[in-house]
Order: sequence, then C-alpha cells, then structure tokens
Amino acid sequence: MKIGIPKEIKTNENRISLVPAGAEALVSAGHTVIVEAGAGLGSGFSDAQYLAVGAQIARDADAVWAASDMIVKVKEPIESEWQRIRPGQTIFTYFHFAANEQLTKAHMASGAICIAYETVELPSRELPLLTPMSEVAGRMAVQEGAKYLEKLNGGRGILLGGVPGVPPAKVVILGAGVVGVNAAKIAAGMGASVVILDVSLERLRYLSDVMPANVQLVFSDRHNLLAQIANADLVIGAVLIHGAVAPKLIRREDLKTMRPGSVIVDVSVDQGGCIETTHPTTHENPTFIVDGVVHYGVANMPGGVPITSTLALTNATLPYVLQLANKGYRQALKESSALLNGLNIIGGKITHRKVAEAFGMEY
Ligand code: NAD
Repeated sequence: MKIGIPKEIKTNENRISLVPAGAEALVSAGHTVIVEAGAGLGSGFSDAQYLAVGAQIARDADAVWAASDMIVKVKEPIESEWQRIRPGQTIFTYFHFAANEQLTKAHMASGAICIAYETVELPSRELPLLTPMSEVAGRMAVQEGAKYLEKLNGGRGILLGGVPGVPPAKVVILGAGVVGVNAAKIAAGMGASVVILDVSLERLRYLSDVMPANVQLVFSDRHNLLAQIANADLVIGAVLIHGAVAPKLIRREDLKTMRPGSVIVDVSVDQGGCIETTHPTTHENPTFIVDGVVHYGVANMPGGVPITSTLALTNATLPYVLQLANKGYRQALKESSALLNGLNIIGGKITHRKVAEAFGMEY
C-alpha cells in the first residue's frame, strides 16, 4: 500500500503522524511511505532520517495526496486540503467530526474512508489513541501550573515543592482519570501536597494502593470540593463524562473563596471545561485572570511539546496503521472491533452513532 504523510498545516501544529521508526516498519512490511518534505522538522525529524529508512520524500502536499492509498495525519484536513482528497482514499487521523458540521459534510462528499483516532475504542471502553495525549496534558498541567504560580506570571509566588522548613504548595486535582493521575504523579514527585477528587470509589480505592503518601484521595461532592479549593494553590480540572459536556464543578461565585494568585489549569476545556469561568485559550496567550485567580485553558496542550507528543501518539497509532496497511481497510475493520469503532464515514455515509446524532442525521 502507498501511505502518505503530509505536513500538518493547522496553526501551530508541529506534530507529524509517523516517525522514522514507523516508516521503517511499514517499508519492511513491503509498503511505500511518502513523506512531504519538511513534515518532520517541527518534531525534530529531518527528511534525511526518513530517506535513510527507505521512505520517499515528496516535494509538496499535492504530490503526497495524489500518490497515496491511505493518508495518515495528526489533525483533521482543513479546508485548503479538502480538494486533495480522492474518492476511496483512507484517511486516518483525529477528526472530531461531531464538533464541526462543515468538516463532516465535506468528508461525506469526498468519498473518502474516514477513520478517527478519537473513536477507536477497545472492548474495555478505553480510547487507546486519546490516552497518550491525556498523559501528556496531565503531566504538562503541573509544569504550566508551576510556571503561572510564579509571581511575575501573575501567580501567588509559591514553589510547588517548598524547601526544608517551608511547606509545599497544595495541588487539587478534579478527576482521577488519565489526565488526573498523570498530573498527580508529577505534582507528588515535585513534593507538592496533592489532593485528588473523583466520584468513582473504585478508582479512589485503586489509587490509594499505588499513590505516594503525599497524595490524598477525597470523594468528589460539592462540600468536599469547596473545602479543598479554599486553600489550594493550584487546581487542575481533569473530569470527563464520556461523550458529554464537562460538568461545571467550580462556579463563578466559588472563585471568591480561593486564594488570590492561585492558578486553575482546566485541562477539560476541550469538553467545555469543568470550571464555569474557563474558556479556550492558545499557547500564544494561555492565561487570563478572573477574581484574582489565574486561569489557563489551552485546548491543545500537547501541541506545546511536539517532540514528546509525536512520539507518544505514534507509539499508539502505529499498530493500527500497520493493520490497515497490511490487511487493507476492509479486512482490518472486519478483524478489529477497535478500528471498526474508529470508522466515522464511508461511501458518503456517517457510520458513527454520536457523529450522526450530533447533526440529526441517519447512520
Ligand atoms: P478519563 O475518562 O480518563 O477521566 C475522567 C475522570 O473524571 C474519571 O475518573 C471520572 O470518574 C471523573 N469524574 C467524572 N465526574 C466527576 C466529578 N463530578 N468529580 C470528580 N471526578 C469526576 O479522562 P481523561 O483522559 O483524564 O481526560 C480528562 C479531560 O481532559 C477530557 O475532557 C479530555 O478531553 C481532556 N484533555 C484535554 C487536553 C488539552 O489539551 N486541553 C489534552 C488531553 C485531554
């Protein structure tokens, strides 16, 4: 199969969908890999590294799309890329169709087979191609929180780990899923005093066995939450209710009970945010202040660390890319329920219930 890797052209997107090790695995399996010139540079990979493992370098995006049976990307094709899509071409990437009707209709009209990373789902309900980005965002949330707690960045001016004789900062994490646990590990490792709140007792029980002593586990209800945020230095929003908008756990009036200069990093902002006062921000302009509390709401946090994010993402996607390439999409979808869950559009029709429901369409 001919597999095309175009350069990502969405603003500030520096990731690439295949690293040289992945290109080598595909070439060894007998496939042709066509990488757009310069596509790997933002993640630290040169054209020479792809050439060295047997991939071809195409001079521009048109050449990649025209020559490939399957396009593997990171982000959804943006409008300027739509005219390049060929009927019958497989596209494997993050699409997030449910959030964008124009994008969905354009892909229905294209005749492409669209398999979305974000809906590839294992029988355990785990979303294996979203997990790596949650791991990155959770760990990064603490790093960003620590930065904005510095006085010159608008924060209280407190060091997460404290020093001998001076107590550490208090980090409160809402949600003990992938983001929350990754945030807790880093915050605990830096010496902070950490509290995680979740509604799942099963999850809290499990974490009480594996988390270090400076992590406390508290059941998430409004009373406990208000008590915890009142003396928090850093609050990390990491709740998710699958397929739904995030519940607003911290309301506007609650900010007055928090310390001036405390910081909220609302990672769940991409699902609407779990703090009433957060809104999506960008890496160029990541924070704003409401009632003296610094808010960080970057919706694509992993984009800030493209080298780590590219490696983490491609570790997870490569086995699926190999299945699609080795078996062809028909057989691969037949044999893998996870990949079948990823199928969103084929033959001009939506094949994913939630995407269809989002637009009141049939599926
Ligand atoms: P997850 O499903 O692994 O974890 C969510 C947790 O929230 C679960 O443990 C659940 O029990 C808990 N929860 C639900 N309701 C709660 C409540 N009322 N109080 C406390 N906990 C509650 O999800 P995840 O992978 O950790 O993702 C969390 C969020 O981060 C998602 O919205 C995801 O889209 C987002 N995310 C954002 C970025 C970014 O760049 N901003 C990157 C990755 C993930």
